[in-house]
Parts: sequence; structure tokens; C-alpha cells
Amino acid sequence: MNIPFNKPYMTGKELWYISQAHASGHLAGDGQFTKKCSAWLEQRIGCQKALLTHSCTAALEMAAILADIQPGDEVIMPSYTFVSTANAFVLRGGVPVFVDIRPDTLNIDETKIEAAITSRTKAIAPVHYAGVACEMDTIMGIARRHNLLVIEDAAQGIMSTYKGRPLGSIGHMAALSFHETKNIISGEGGALLINDPRFVERAEMIREKGTNRSQFFRGQVDKYTWVDVGSSYLPGEVIAAFLWAQMEEADAINQRRLGLWSNYHQWFASLEKAGKVQRPSVPRECVHNAHMYYLLLPNLEQRTDLIARLRTKDINTVFHYIPLHSSPRGKSVGRAEADMTNTDNAGDRLVRLPMWLGLEEQQAAVIQQILATL
Ligand SMILES: *Cc1c(COP(=O)(O)O)cnc(C)c1O
Repeated sequence: MNIPFNKPYMTGKELWYISQAHASGHLAGDGQFTKKCSAWLEQRIGCQKALLTHSCTAALEMAAILADIQPGDEVIMPSYTFVSTANAFVLRGGVPVFVDIRPDTLNIDETKIEAAITSRTKAIAPVHYAGVACEMDTIMGIARRHNLLVIEDAAQGIMSTYKGRPLGSIGHMAALSFHETKNIISGEGGALLINDPRFVERAEMIREKGTNRSQFFRGQVDKYTWVDVGSSYLPGEVIAAFLWAQMEEADAINQRRLGLWSNYHQWFASLEKAGKVQRPSVPRECVHNAHMYYLLLPNLEQRTDLIARLRTKDINTVFHYIPLHSSPRGKSVGRAEADMTNTDNAGDRLVRLPMWLGLEEQQAAVIQQILATL
């Protein structure tokens, strides 16, 4: 039987809520389901404002506009991340400055950030890899001392915490993803979370094509007109209805993912002891959300070999990322700060294992096959 790497989980209520959106006749954005979803995020994460977007990429683009990134402005980020972390700023003429990651969490190495700051630095964009928090106290401290904005790429971090604080509630702004490969999904989807109240009003306008539409509907202005730059970043109600079905089940989804994660982790302890793999590491102050389970193999050859052998047993595993500092576009628009050893290492050695609800019945087969192969 073929075991896929990912399989989107449906709670069973998605179509029912979509039919309600359909029956209501409100299909554009910001209807009843969008309101339910934003209220859930504001309550659970404790942010000032949660604005649904059509992707995390869109939320990051909005953040770059709100941060007023001008051509030549620098944004410090890891190179071991998805392209959107960098693209959002590059679209505004910004320069991604890549800092190496920590060998344990694969998150940006907070001790190397300060050395990368120049007079052009505007923001830091930490990425909570695998839903495990970056060292946020240190990062926020650096930002305060140097007057920088912090934009959390929390695409993988919904329902994770750092020292008891939900990811997405710590930086000035944060971006979430509801892409079908994430924990809570709507196919494509995302949200911009705003913690610094200075940005709330402008964020609403940027999301609504640069108009004051939201204020108009609240009766705060008597004319609805063009007031700022902007685009159309909001999802329609069909997407929000789907997402609401998932949010209602979010705790149960999280619990089941954590169960799968712990199984992998226990079974692979012996491999780590034998020096054959490195398992994920979760610092004591972090509670994670089991977004992904990965192993680090000793080198590229062994990783390639493992993926190929599992493939012959119909078990699908994947690797990522090609570090941005060594990608064609990253080389031309970005700058790598000093040594990128840990980043290059993760790019060569990491393999992601199947992780989806329903894997429970087949997880033993995946584990046995990996134990037999390594
Ligand atoms: C998935 C992901 C994104 C992009 O999310 P979309 O919703 O697909 O735009 C950005 N950053 C990271 C770290 C991601 O994992």
C-alpha cells in the first residue's frame, strides 16, 4: 500500500459550512465565517488583530508593506526557509540578509543576528521551523536595542508556544499558513496577525485594495474611497467556511499529530544513540505542534539512499529546503552573513517523514522500514 507524505485531513463539517456560506448569499470576504475564524485566532493567540488572507505569502507581503520596506532596506532571516519569507521583502526592493541556523532546532541562530545588523537593517523575520519556537526573548531584545521590527514567519507554528506564549503573539506582526500541508488547513489560506496596534488600521486598508472599506462598514467614515496602496489579500467565504470546520477541531487535530510525533520520536531513540540519525530537538521553554517529523542523516548520500529505498517500499518521504543563499535568486538579491555551515548541513541531511491524520494504522510500517534500512 502506498503511504503518501501528506494527506489533507477533513473534519467532515467542511461541506456543511460551505453550504451555509452558499445559502447565505455572502460569498466575498469578511462574512460570518471570516469573522468566526478571526475571532478564534484573536482569542487563541491573543493578538491585537487577526486578518485572514489567501495565503501566508500574502500575509508576509502585507507585513513588508506595513514595515515600509524601501529599496535597499535589509531584513535579517534564516536561509533555511521557504521562499516566501524572502520574496515578500524582495518584492518591495528589500535585501534578505541570511543568518545561519542553530544545529539543534534549525531555527535562526539568535547569537549571530547582531553581527548582521547594518544601518540599512529594518526588520528581523524569524521562522519557527517545524512549529518549534525561535529564541524570541533574545530576538525581541535585539530588535528593541536596534529599533527593528520583528515579523514572525509562523506558517508552521499555529498552537505552539514559547514560554507559554502562543507563536504569532510575540513579534510586531506574524504570518500563519493554512496551506493543505500545514496543521489546520483551507487548501490555500493564511492570516496576518498584528500585535503592535500602530499597524492595525493600515493593515485593514492594504488588505482591501488600499481603501477604507472596513472603516466605512463600521460607520467610522461616511465615504468609501482610495486612501493607501494595497491589493486584494482577503479570502472569500467558501475558504473561510472550510477553515472554520478545521478550527473547531483544532485541539483534537493537534493531539493526534502529537501522538504520531511521539511514536516516531520514541522508536528512533535507538538510532540516535547508535549515531545513525539526529532527531528533532525541542527546547524546554517550547511547546510544539507536531507540524513535522524529520530526521537528520549523516550526509547527503545517506539521505538520498534512504529516500530511494523507502520509495521502493511505497513510503514517500521528502527533503527541503535548498538554502535560499545558494538558490539562483537568493544569490542575486540576498547576502549571506558569515558561515552557513548548519544551514548547508540541514539542506543536505534532513528528511521529512509522513505526518498526517490517519497515518496511525500505517505508522508502524514506516517505522519498521526505517529501522530495517538504517
Ligand atoms: C508554508 C510556508 C510558507 C508559505 O505559506 P503559503 O500559505 O503557502 O503562502 C511560508 N513560510 C514557511 C516557513 C512555510 O512553511
